[in-house]
Amino acid sequence: MNRREWLRAVGSAAAAPLPVAAAQSGLRTEILKLKLRHTWTTVMSSSNFRNTLAVTFTRQGVTGYGEGAPIVRYHESAETAQAAVASVADLLDSADPWQFSKLMGEVFRRIDGHYAAKAAIDIALMDWVGKKLGVPLYRYFGLDPAAAPVTTFSIGIDKPEIVKQKVREAAPYPILKIKVGLDSDEEMIAAVRSVTDKPLRVDANEGWKNKEEAARKIDWLEKQGVEFVEQPMPADMLEETQWVRSRVRLPIIADEASLRPSDVPKLAGCFDGINVKLDKTGGILEAHKMIQMAKSLGMKTMLGCMISSSISITAAAHLSPLVDYADLDGNLLIANDPYEGVTVRDGKLVLPDRPGLGLKPAV
Ligand code: MG
Repeated sequence: MNRREWLRAVGSAAAAPLPVAAAQSGLRTEILKLKLRHTWTTVMSSSNFRNTLAVTFTRQGVTGYGEGAPIVRYHESAETAQAAVASVADLLDSADPWQFSKLMGEVFRRIDGHYAAKAAIDIALMDWVGKKLGVPLYRYFGLDPAAAPVTTFSIGIDKPEIVKQKVREAAPYPILKIKVGLDSDEEMIAAVRSVTDKPLRVDANEGWKNKEEAARKIDWLEKQGVEFVEQPMPADMLEETQWVRSRVRLPIIADEASLRPSDVPKLAGCFDGINVKLDKTGGILEAHKMIQMAKSLGMKTMLGCMISSSISITAAAHLSPLVDYADLDGNLLIANDPYEGVTVRDGKLVLPDRPGLGLKPAV
């Protein structure tokens, strides 16, 4: 029974809550409305809640959980992601999930764009595979959980008083990631520095539009105890970014310019490293490939995230022993996380040792 038939069977035409423990095989979706602890502002947007798409995949009595966070910049929403997942429900209902690599290849061929939707499907499948094998996903990938890195905690753009309050609340996290890129950069950093002397990483989210400004700001940030700068200029300004990189000492990490594995070769030489997100790559398998490509080109690697529940953040965390830097705090920024998976101890990611993603309901 596919979702449409299931909805008809229970006499509902509207989106219904997911059936408990999903008795039927196949794919189900639900839009999660995540409530933010603080209004979240970056160069791109400002909001109090975020919608993500949760997916469950059930077969042989085992349910895998997945999630994708739609990215507005790429014209995605939870509703378009839900429609994209529905368009391959027949495939997921009939295919052999043990052939997950082939199956995800077919999903990628059938869905154009909609990488958050693809990520939700991939994560649910890999959770299912890990559960059936009885191993945590980090073990499936041959990784050492003790090598999981420290995660940064992100501070969004805000008024100085609110920024100071956020920095104080971030006391348990040893490294902070500060969003800049508007006219208030100096004010943001001054507010942070008035409260803490922790190492900082800075994300400009493509906010600086000319190379001289970017180089000047990066030199200034170096003096403020900043370790690296993420995406200083617009994603398509590769030549300008290369110019900036040749003049500054701080490493420059690509985010909006590094979406998928095929982007990596052209970024070598322009950036020192890449930020990999499951919602950009379309899931764990493609993220793993992208990290390996970047490492083979001598680049630094980072795992980042969108604002998501612990489903998506834990999925990324299982790959984190592979990377140099982690910014996996999307679940820490919300007040209504339905699950518990990866946790943070003294800033370091602690991977659950239960099978698959290792999620359990939040207490
Ligand atoms: Mg970023």
